[in-house]
Amino acid sequence: MAIATTNPATGEMLKSFDPMGEKQIERILADAAAAAVTLRATSFDERAAWLREAALLLEGEVVEVARLVTMEMGKPIGEAKAEVTKCAAACRYFATHAEEFLADQPADAHAVGASRAYTRFEPLGPVLAVMPWNFPLWQVMRFAAPNLMVGNPGLLKHASNVPQTALYLDELFERSGFPPGAFQALLVGSDAIENILLDPRVRAATLTGSTPAGRAVAAAAGRALKKTVLELGGSDPFVVLPSADLDAAVATAVKARCQNSGQSCIAAKRFIVHGEVYETFARAFTDRMAALVVGDPLDHATDVGPLATEQVRDDVAAQVDDAVARGATVLTGGRVPDGPGWFYPPTVVTDITRDMRMFGEEVFGPVAGLYRASSVDEALELANATEFGLGSNVWTNDPGERERFVNGLDAGQVFVNGMTTSYPALPFGGVGDSGYGRELSSLGIREFCNAKAVWIG
Ligand code: NAP
Repeated sequence: MAIATTNPATGEMLKSFDPMGEKQIERILADAAAAAVTLRATSFDERAAWLREAALLLEGEVVEVARLVTMEMGKPIGEAKAEVTKCAAACRYFATHAEEFLADQPADAHAVGASRAYTRFEPLGPVLAVMPWNFPLWQVMRFAAPNLMVGNPGLLKHASNVPQTALYLDELFERSGFPPGAFQALLVGSDAIENILLDPRVRAATLTGSTPAGRAVAAAAGRALKKTVLELGGSDPFVVLPSADLDAAVATAVKARCQNSGQSCIAAKRFIVHGEVYETFARAFTDRMAALVVGDPLDHATDVGPLATEQVRDDVAAQVDDAVARGATVLTGGRVPDGPGWFYPPTVVTDITRDMRMFGEEVFGPVAGLYRASSVDEALELANATEFGLGSNVWTNDPGERERFVNGLDAGQVFVNGMTTSYPALPFGGVGDSGYGRELSSLGIREFCNAKAVWIG
């Protein structure tokens, strides 16, 4: 894939970049290794001050940065601004809490025959971060903020369609005071990753992206014996049971499916509705999906912008066409519009059967699969009938059902009566084909630490 900015609303290529050559990559790796030493000698207070400065810069530049993101990957401008603000909040969160999360953790010294015993969390060194375009700032920040507080330099291999956002992030951390080499962008294609991973100066890797990309990077990292964290795709269930507040469930369902024009790993993708409330939910949900405004992502009135690339739009259209060819029913949307740009309308598909691609695959666009469940048991079975296990959502006011789904949903997150989202204070990650490891919270910040056991006699 060419490393280039192409406006998804028009299909016009705005700027392209040559991939970095061997010499440039060598300099970047050498700088990262040097920064690992420099960072280790800095204090939590120093690193926190730089991260707080990054937050201030982001907030001060919100208009320009949001516009850049929208030009590169097409998300509605209001959502791009919210992403910038969320990044600033994450910087402040880890600036405030990192020292407490990484403090020595005392063990029972008596039990191990020591006068003192504890776990110390030390930096591992430079970490390669392979990142996707869908939240091109946030996905990077939720790796960068905690790891810079640990003292791990970041090496960003961003998705090839967001190179200018990658360069912005590279400059942001240096402008905010971090030592040179603490955070750098590598403008390279995915074919360069294996060699970079084999370099002994790179100590670990994290990938946020599709399941096939995760498998490829984990395999290469495995050959080099390097730890990975994988944040992969999802096909989150959104279960609605009879005791739910239906108005709230419908309003959230539309937002949860169409946020980021449908291109979110934790977007609700499969809507599983109990038969008792199915007709009411289906009607209201379809009406609201049909009423969303699709258009220019730079216009604040737009709800759904173009999909990020022609390939993403083609994939979504092919999944819907496959379902229709096998007998599914389209309640709204379902057709690629005429005209420039990679638009796809908000779509609701029902009568989905297990042989259809939509049943088993992640649909990365504003397309909802609507399923009728005849019982609570069937709703739970359908919710778990996926290889993915990222987020999940259940709507019920029955305490027994709530506990049943909290325990029974096979996913990294369960949200009850509210939209699945990520918070710096909660761990984020998946099970199954959605990956492994966690980001955010006290768990995420320790993923790339050497948890050193210290025993003092
Ligand atoms: P993608 O095609 O997998 O790309 C993600 C990153 O991996 C890009 O930097 C890409 O580089 C690189 N890459 C792709 N194939 C690779 C390979 N074989 N070896 C090494 N690197 C490779 O994903 P995307 O289309 O950007 O993002 C959408 C996917 O990300 C969806 O599946 C979504 O659910 C998932 N996602 C997951 C989370 C989460 O937290 N779990 C969050 C956001 C998105 P190039 O661009 O150069 O190909």
